[in-house]
Amino acid sequence: MLDSGKPGPNVMVQALTHGNEFCGAIALDFLFREKLFPVKGKLTLAFANVAAFARFDFDDPDRSRYIDEDYNRVWADEALLGARESVELRRARALRPFVDAADYLLDLHSMHEPCRPIMVCGVGGRGGEKGIALARRIGLPADLLLDTGHPAGLRMIERGAFSDPASPRTAVLIECGQHWEKSAVDVAVDTMMRFLAVLGVIEPSSAGEALRMKKPRSQRVIRVTEPVVARSMQFCFERPWKGLEVVAKAGTPVARDAGQVWRTPYDDCVMVMPSVKHLKPGTTMVRLGRYEPA
Ligand SMILES: [Zn+2]
Repeated sequence: MLDSGKPGPNVMVQALTHGNEFCGAIALDFLFREKLFPVKGKLTLAFANVAAFARFDFDDPDRSRYIDEDYNRVWADEALLGARESVELRRARALRPFVDAADYLLDLHSMHEPCRPIMVCGVGGRGGEKGIALARRIGLPADLLLDTGHPAGLRMIERGAFSDPASPRTAVLIECGQHWEKSAVDVAVDTMMRFLAVLGVIEPSSAGEALRMKKPRSQRVIRVTEPVVARSMQFCFERPWKGLEVVAKAGTPVARDAGQVWRTPYDDCVMVMPSVKHLKPGTTMVRLGRYEPA
C-alpha cells in the first residue's frame, strides 16, 4: 500500500483475481516501473491469486485460473468468515481488510474469447449504477454491463457497501479482451491510469503520458436480464459465440442442456461473455441482456 500522507480516497487496483489473466499484472508492473506514487489518498496494488498464477503452464493455461475454487466467488461473509478452507479462501481472507477499506476498487480481468472490452459495473439496483457512473467518468470502455451476479457466489465488486446504492464506495471490474491479446494490456493500463486520474490519486498529466488508446466516442449500457446456468455436463452452445453478438429475433435457440433448449427471450438479445471452458453444473455459461436506449 502506498500512502501519500495527504487526505484523499483509499483506492485499490487488483490483478490476477484469476491466475491466468495477466494483462492486469502487466499493468501493475508498468505502474511500479513508472514509480508512480499517489499525490493524495492511499493506493493499494494487489496481485490476488498468486498461487494459481505460479503454476502457469503454456500447454495448459486454464489450469492456472484457480487452485481449489474461483477466487471471485468467495466474497460473501458466509464463505469468507465461515469454516470452509481453500487456497482461494485463505488468500481472500488475507486481502479482505484492504478490500473492505477501499473507497474505490478496480479489478482487472481478461476473457476466454476474443471480444470487445467490457466494464462489469455490478448488479442493477444493487450498486451497479454507481459503477456505471464511475465507468462514464473513466470514459472506457464502450460497453458497460449491469448484470445479475453469479449464483455460484459473490464477487469482490459486490462485497458489502459496494452493493449498497446509498454508499459512495464503488467497485468495477474490467474485462480487457482475450487473455493473450496484446491489446488487453493496453486496455488494462489505460483503464487503470484513467481510473486513478479521475479519483485524483495521480496527476492527469502523468496519466495522459501513459495512455495508449483513444477513448471510445460513446459508452453504452447492456442490462443483463438473466444468466444461462449449466444444469449438466451436456450443456453446449448452438453456435460458437464470442461475445457481444446481438441476436435479432426472440426465440432463437442459443444453447441446449440435458434435453432443454435455451432461447433468446426478446429481440436484439446480447450474448454476454459466453464460455464453455469451465463447464460444471451451476456455472454461468452466458448472460443474456439488451442495450439500454442511449
Ligand atoms: Zn477473470
